[in-house]
Amino acid sequence: MSRPSFPAKLPSGMPQTGAKPSVAAKATHAVTPKKIAARADSMPAISLKSVKKPIKNQIPASQQGMGMDSAAVRARMVKLLAEGGITDQAVLSAMNTIERHRFVDTALAPQAYEDTSLPIGLSQTISKPNVVARMIALLREGAALDSQGRMGRVLEIGSGCGYQAAILSLLCKEVYSIERLRGLYDKALVNIRHLKAANLHLLLGDGMLGAPGGAPYSGIIAAAGGEAIPQAWVDQLAVGGRIVAPTGNGAAQSLIVIDKTARGLKQTVLESVLFVPLKSGVA
Ligand code: SAH
Repeated sequence: MSRPSFPAKLPSGMPQTGAKPSVAAKATHAVTPKKIAARADSMPAISLKSVKKPIKNQIPASQQGMGMDSAAVRARMVKLLAEGGITDQAVLSAMNTIERHRFVDTALAPQAYEDTSLPIGLSQTISKPNVVARMIALLREGAALDSQGRMGRVLEIGSGCGYQAAILSLLCKEVYSIERLRGLYDKALVNIRHLKAANLHLLLGDGMLGAPGGAPYSGIIAAAGGEAIPQAWVDQLAVGGRIVAPTGNGAAQSLIVIDKTARGLKQTVLESVLFVPLKSGVA
């Protein structure tokens, strides 16, 4: 059966998950505002020596059929992320490993390594690579890491097509990712199958209630924005843990970081973003 095709370009006015930041980082309520925002112009470009140039006839079948060499385009995407200010090498490496083109419709595969959000069905979008990298880097900042450099247990709200969950599975001991739309939950299950990631648990449910089964979490990351951070997320966050989530109203969303410390919560408001809405209930 042929898969439905999507418009190559998003219709204007459609929520562009994680749209490009348009406002400089500002901190509120922060006792000692952390220097969170990475400045692109002060970042050294990463060395790409470790990214081997693939030889044409060694490209596995899974990476063919895109009209391009996916390993090379992905390496280019990662290089641009580094040049754009993402300095967390583990995040860059995970984004070089996970094949984003496998998570979008075949018709959109040629655009998979552009820094753009793309439709994944049911009016939802896969976030821009830059936004995924930025948010996961924020989540990892200051987090306790194990001997393999991984965070502990992390909850993602809004699995969508499963791309960000797949990246997280390489960077965390355990990942719980919850999606409210059955159609996307099913799609994500199929999309992550090839990874055989025993530490990645996809759940169907209302993420506004968190996912108590895996709590407490060292990190919670949301791919959809509500007007406020649900109390359940704060309750299910371990002391020392961090929430990274878009919050606000429509076009007035900002990226919010909440740190749960022994002395209470610390909230930092970062750049403006535009994510699909956080909705309640399962559909
Ligand atoms: N991380 C995803 C991005 C998907 S867009 C990816 O990599 O593809 C955000 C997703 O959040 C949508 O699929 C939307 O259905 C989902 N969502 C919105 N509100 C939710 C809620 N309360 N619980 C779980 N998922 C939710």
